[in-house]
Amino acid sequence: MYKNLTFFFLLFLIFSCKNIDEKHIYLDEKQNDSIEIEKKSPKYAIVIHGGAGTILKENMSDSLESAYRNTLEEAIKVGHEILKNGGTALEAVTKTINVLEDSPLFNAGKGAVFTHEETNELDASIMDGNTLNAGAVAGVTHIKNPIDLAYEVMVNSEHVMLAGKGAEEFAKLRGFELVDPSYFYTENRFQSLQRIKEKEEAQLDHNGKTAFADPFIKDSKFGTVGCVALDKNGNIAAGTSTGGMTNKRWNRIGDAPIIGAGTYANNATCGVSSTGWGEYFIRAMVAHDISAMMEYKGVSLQEAAQEVIQKKVPELGGDGGVVALDKDGNIAMEFNTAGMYRAYINTEGELFIGIYKDAPTP
Ligand code: ASP
Repeated sequence: MYKNLTFFFLLFLIFSCKNIDEKHIYLDEKQNDSIEIEKKSPKYAIVIHGGAGTILKENMSDSLESAYRNTLEEAIKVGHEILKNGGTALEAVTKTINVLEDSPLFNAGKGAVFTHEETNELDASIMDGNTLNAGAVAGVTHIKNPIDLAYEVMVNSEHVMLAGKGAEEFAKLRGFELVDPSYFYTENRFQSLQRIKEKEEAQLDHNGKTAFADPFIKDSKFGTVGCVALDKNGNIAAGTSTGGMTNKRWNRIGDAPIIGAGTYANNATCGVSSTGWGEYFIRAMVAHDISAMMEYKGVSLQEAAQEVIQKKVPELGGDGGVVALDKDGNIAMEFNTAGMYRAYINTEGELFIGIYKDAPTP
């Protein structure tokens, strides 16, 4: 009887040990599963701007506002879809910017502002935060999508920045189709130039000179476009495209094509795209300064963007804003103007579209 009991007790022990073992295996597998799930769903996010300036609700019709919102939404969804499907941050940035460049609403590509000579001169730049490689074009007049040419300079030339005719010769060599400058004509932008020229006329001093730094220059820029994306491989890219400032002359070039001012990306810190009064953004090296503050001072993206946009730039006398995104997918959209066209889809997949100041920041 005792023998039998001991036998059953031993059997029970063997079975329960086996169960414990199986449980361990199960837990281990579960843990591996969750590690796998984490690996399979890395973070990705995207943020865009469509320019900063005196953008006020009272000056905006409902239909124009919804046109802006719809185009911002369309653009950001293009980039987000690319990221969702495992595409690169660089691809997301270029394709998103293409949508904004093709819209007459924004001061880039189709909607570019006019120079004093009634032409359109476009600037763009892009940067790869993984390799720190970058490409830029300035003062091009026949390129439908300047961000694509900036990308081409980055990947298929030994240079970082090409300008004017030379940039367009390079574009031809690389198989780009050149468009007639009339492609960039929009009545709206043309009328803005005429209005500024009239004001300028009125401000001629008795020597017939105009001051380039007249206050109205502040409002001669709207609608530069930019995008920053983080892809599933942890790579950050940033790009910016613009027609510059209305009534610009002497082949003036702003911050948008200048790496470190208008655009910067570094996987170790963040990606930034700027918009605003370019002369000040160049002097403050806005995009790189935000990254450098994170790198050297260890501050958060939001703190760095705030410091540069709310203190450094206005202290110099400039205005504008940035959109930025860090390596963890945190987003900043900082501006010191009345408004900034902007949108993001964050790591949670939440979509935000904003125009005026009062909208909540992420
Ligand atoms: N930053 C651009 C420039 O100065 C203008 C803008 O962002 O609206 O050319």
